[in-house]
Amino acid sequence: MNVYKQIVSAIQESNKIVITSHKSPDGDSIGSSIAMQEFCKELGKTAIICHPDPAPDFLMWLNGSNEILSFEKNEKLVQEKIQTADLIFCLDYNETGRVGKEMQPVLDAASAKKIMIDHHLNPSGFADITLSDPTICSTCQIIFDVIEFSENLELLNASIGTALYLGIMTDTGSFRFPSIQVRTHHILASLIENGVKHYEVHENVFDTNTLDRLRLRGYACSEKMEILPENQVAIISLTKEELKRFNHQKGDTEGLVNVALSIHGMRAAVLFTEADEYVKISFRSKGKENPINELASNYFSGGGHANASGGRFDGTIEDAIKLFKQVVSNYIKPI
Ligand code: 5GP
Ligand code: MN
Repeated sequence: MNVYKQIVSAIQESNKIVITSHKSPDGDSIGSSIAMQEFCKELGKTAIICHPDPAPDFLMWLNGSNEILSFEKNEKLVQEKIQTADLIFCLDYNETGRVGKEMQPVLDAASAKKIMIDHHLNPSGFADITLSDPTICSTCQIIFDVIEFSENLELLNASIGTALYLGIMTDTGSFRFPSIQVRTHHILASLIENGVKHYEVHENVFDTNTLDRLRLRGYACSEKMEILPENQVAIISLTKEELKRFNHQKGDTEGLVNVALSIHGMRAAVLFTEADEYVKISFRSKGKENPINELASNYFSGGGHANASGGRFDGTIEDAIKLFKQVVSNYIKPI
């Protein structure tokens, strides 16, 4: 039996299905979780989504997103769901640490069968079934594979399709990254044929800015951007005080690092934001010769994809930037 059919059999044999994803859920986490939940429903099974923490509002409009539980808001209930589950999906992450240090021990201790579906490098092998392909743009595209290659394409409805479209769109920078394949466009066409209103997905995600958010981003670009010309790198940094000044809400700095990377000639961009206990860092780069994930994992306890990674620094934001400047030339090659 191929892995796609094994996954469907596991769903059919289970009665308490929990769907998890990584901390700070993004469009691919939300899209893959809702799509899998809806697919389970089409197979006659109920699944509950338990995420480590809530996603920003611009990702919370899909049918079913109100019912997503979070460990941060509902610890006891999520703990009980994970402990009593007979099947746990681990979507869009490659090791259990990515659910955060609070939820990780609960997930690690769970006796349920685990199925990991993901596209990050270096899958850690913790799951009973691992379906991982770093050459695929998004976990949502792999979930389409599960539906198609298990011969269940007739179950693909507009709810599943819209969720998958969301994840593919957000993980590919609206269909522009090199990770897009010809197959991705065939899949998108098939989602639209199945009732997805693609323009609604774009509007819900991109035309829902607040004035505070736009002003924060304008301020960041105008006052807080630094260019390292010899490295061809752009840096943005935002302190807690600055975030507060613009009434910062979850998601307000999402994609800001890509704005810095869009400056002509940049090979990489970094966003430093001060959080309560650490400095959160988003890294982006261009080209195979600039693997920013190695810098993120060697110096900032992070990782991710070769050209899009995250990390953290325990110390001041100034020291984080200083360290970055010291090491950047080993990873980013100017042209
Ligand atoms: P973002 O900058 O959007 O927060 O993260 C970009 C990518 O880096 C994400 O898709 C995720 O795969 C990865 N990432 C972010 N933070 C971490 C982290 O702390 N550890 C690892 N291994 N990957 C991360
Ligand atoms: Mn993803």
